[in-house]
Amino acid sequence: MKKLDTRLMHPRDQITMIIDKVYRSGLTTTSGGNISIIDENGDIWVTPSAIDKGSLRASDIVCVRKDGTIEGRHKPSSEYPFHKAIYEARPDIKAVVHAHPPALVSFSIVRQIPDTNIIPQAKNICGPIGYATYELPGSEILGDVIAKEFEKGFNAVIMENHGTVVGGSDLGDAFQRFETLEFCGRTIIYGSTIGSPKYLSDDQIAEFEEQIPRVLPEMEEVEHPSDERAIREEIKKIVHRACEQGLMISSYGTVSVRWRDNDFLITPTNVARWDIQNEDIVQIKDGKREPGKIPSRSTWLHQEIYKRNPHVNSVILTQTPYLMAYSVSAEKLDVRTIPESWIFLQDVPNVPFGSHFAGEETILNLLSENTPAVIIENDSVLVTGDKLLGTFDRLEVAEFSAKSLTMGASLGKLVPINPDQVEELRKKFLS
Ligand code: 13P
Ligand code: ZN
Repeated sequence: MKKLDTRLMHPRDQITMIIDKVYRSGLTTTSGGNISIIDENGDIWVTPSAIDKGSLRASDIVCVRKDGTIEGRHKPSSEYPFHKAIYEARPDIKAVVHAHPPALVSFSIVRQIPDTNIIPQAKNICGPIGYATYELPGSEILGDVIAKEFEKGFNAVIMENHGTVVGGSDLGDAFQRFETLEFCGRTIIYGSTIGSPKYLSDDQIAEFEEQIPRVLPEMEEVEHPSDERAIREEIKKIVHRACEQGLMISSYGTVSVRWRDNDFLITPTNVARWDIQNEDIVQIKDGKREPGKIPSRSTWLHQEIYKRNPHVNSVILTQTPYLMAYSVSAEKLDVRTIPESWIFLQDVPNVPFGSHFAGEETILNLLSENTPAVIIENDSVLVTGDKLLGTFDRLEVAEFSAKSLTMGASLGKLVPINPDQVEELRKKFLS
């Protein structure tokens, strides 16, 4: 997957950029977690021990030289022993992320490993998950236990009664694995709160991976008038905002906006969503794609949505933690419980896994002015609307509603408003 090209960024700057994302995404506390990068010469750059992870600066990052000398204003992370042990065990690993993200800590204290077959991309992104038995934090023996798991080939390990540690070919790769694994954990936990999660078979995952993007022909000449460039900016901003608000993760999510007639712009396939830039976005004009760029695998669906629904001008397809609870448990998201949600969403049907693959009609037959959103089982949620910000708001309302419904599930029976009250809403707000 294409990520921000960090090759020319100093390890100090890469680490501060990623720890900031980790902290702001609620994946670590002020004191918890640590990140490192190994340089070609064997030097290890690592976060300092017990210094505020919410405000680290490049000058706070410590360097442990290959010969063991320490350079920097602070002590290196107390978990430096396991970072070092991982690099010794696995020369292909160049960056390590450790933290205590809430869902993976839950797994670690019930001593389970999350099954990544819960969503389609995670098996591939995370790989098989290892398990390191409890040892004293900061100890050499913890380093040994973790390094043994990495030696077996795992790139992500649950640390018993502690948290998780993941490695990557670079820091972007490690972050994406870490973020996706925690997302799997949350999805399984929230899905279990409202029902019982169902998992994809390996065949279904293979089907997802092999989705043949009916690659559209390339256009010969491409123009980028100002209104087209404005849409690029709009898409990029909403993708970044979605990532920041916990409504999209690096490894999944597509946004498109209608441009002129049935022409539109869409996010590319295989680019980390946090890193998407204007030039990554793909123009689709007269059924042809911008040369040299591969649009989202769901391009066919977006194209058909625009053709068949003149009222739709933007589409978001994404994974959000609480809507995914409904997606994986196949429980019905009953928005008749919250008037504003019903006005924004009306009824949100569940559709089977694979319904958004090229050539599938299920979603196209359901979408209408009265059905702007659908939940795709074990995959994602698809939201349509007019202006992109309105579609984003609709997604937020859906996710907040799913969160309230999930949280309410432990309190008692959820009581919807009655059909007369729904009719009253329809008359006042929708006609
Ligand atoms: P440091 O602040 O020393 O890196 O420790 C944080 C942590 O997560 C220990 O396991
Ligand atoms: Zn820790």
